Amino acid sequence: MAYENLYHKEQRSSKVDCLIFDLDDTLYPLSSGLAGECLKNIGEYMVEKLGIERSKVSELSNLLYKNYGTTMAGLRAIGYSFNYDDYHSFVHGRLPYEKLKPDPILRHLLLSLPIRKVIFTNADKVHAARVLSKLGLEDCFEGIICFESLNDPNYELCGSNNLFDILEHSARPIAGAELPKTPILCKPSEFAMELALKLANIDPQRAIFFDDSVRNIQAAKRIGLGTVLVGSSHAVKGADHILESIHNIREALSELWEEDEKSEDVLYQSKIAIATSVTA
Ligand SMILES: [Mg+2]
Repeated sequence: MAYENLYHKEQRSSKVDCLIFDLDDTLYPLSSGLAGECLKNIGEYMVEKLGIERSKVSELSNLLYKNYGTTMAGLRAIGYSFNYDDYHSFVHGRLPYEKLKPDPILRHLLLSLPIRKVIFTNADKVHAARVLSKLGLEDCFEGIICFESLNDPNYELCGSNNLFDILEHSARPIAGAELPKTPILCKPSEFAMELALKLANIDPQRAIFFDDSVRNIQAAKRIGLGTVLVGSSHAVKGADHILESIHNIREALSELWEEDEKSEDVLYQSKIAIATSVTA
């Protein structure tokens, strides 16, 4: 294990040129209550739109979330077919966004770092834009990698006749039986995360990934990213740093600002050198 860590350190370039941020429960605290409302809406969607028995919703959505990264990805894996925009507007459209307030502290921290900053969320672009606007951070990022970046919203809808009974599979696993695959790409799939980096032209060896999900952090570590677990006070395997709040970013990663100050010094010195040579 120690060897592995050393190997990773040797492989990583010292200069960080991109910061990748998850959105929900990373750029704002879990205590905002949005996550709980989102979960409720997912349950309602499963009952109202997909006809799933209410008594099974909680266990089923937990199981799907655990196995597939998002409940939505799991619903598609086990055979449900639905319009992605319809799902997203039902689940996110009714969220109490007014609970999110502008965050000038975070805004200042982000803008004081002239390093590329990118959002990487499993949510859709409308939700991402609304959250960033509510937090007053809409101009702090170069771009947003979201659901639509990795998935085709216009896939052909088909019936939901052959449903895989994942609750039965989980209660009485049959030896050798595998879970069906999902067509949806999302974190923490390493394939999805590598594709996201490629789309945004990000070198994992020179980038740091911030997320509140331990499994996303661990996947990020496996593909070579520097990692910061946000919203936790406990060390976990795979996290290079832990922040209780994203507001602590400068305390934990002061080298990012120092590097910037150093490069500003170099720039300043080179300007002097040029000026000197002109006047000489
Ligand atoms: Mg999150």
